Amino acid sequence: MQFTKLRLSGFKSFVDNTELLVEPGMTGVVGPNGCGKSNLVEALRWAMGETSAKKMRGEDMDDVIFGGTATRPARNICEVTLVLDNASKTAPPPFNDFDELEVTRRLERGSGSDYRINGKLVRARDVQILFADNASGASSPALVSQGRVGALINAKPGDRRQLLEEAAGISGLHARKHEAELR
Ligand code: ATP
Ligand code: MG
Repeated sequence: MQFTKLRLSGFKSFVDNTELLVEPGMTGVVGPNGCGKSNLVEALRWAMGETSAKKMRGEDMDDVIFGGTATRPARNICEVTLVLDNASKTAPPPFNDFDELEVTRRLERGSGSDYRINGKLVRARDVQILFADNASGASSPALVSQGRVGALINAKPGDRRQLLEEAAGISGLHARKHEAELR
């Protein structure tokens, strides 16, 4: 699976519909302070199922919705879509047969999030499991926030093992095994 596009609407400073193409070889996003670089990375993390408002640099999850400026009113809905190329058919079942996957998270002020994969309503858990094996996901070690390097060095052995399992691509297996046992 490969990220190919990120679409944002009403998410933080991205009030207007915005589409970012993630082309092969893209290595960075540059721009002046406050232009929204960190917001983009947060949108990626949010669409993959992040549930911590703190990790979104907010007090409440609704804080990710465009809060308005001196000239533009606040929004009540935000939506982020991640488009994934799955030509390699490496997405875990039941999504392995699709050539392309569109993962959408939508939030309405005061009424929580819903998630869709290719238009079909799914659980947050389904989205988290979709990403769990691909060194991606909301808590992926590939997304390094400030302070994270120090945290890895000081991590307890169990937490460090989890990071290694993610890197090795087996944490999704544990998550799916746990899901199967619950059914
Ligand atoms: P730096 O180079 O300083 O790290 P950056 O490019 O990473 O900057 P961000 O932190 O992504 O910038 O964007 C900060 C901007 O996003 C601020 O102007 C802030 O007001 C705006 N912003 C954050 N949340 C919201 C929101 N909910 N509604 C409107 N604007 C928001
Ligand atoms: Mg930043």
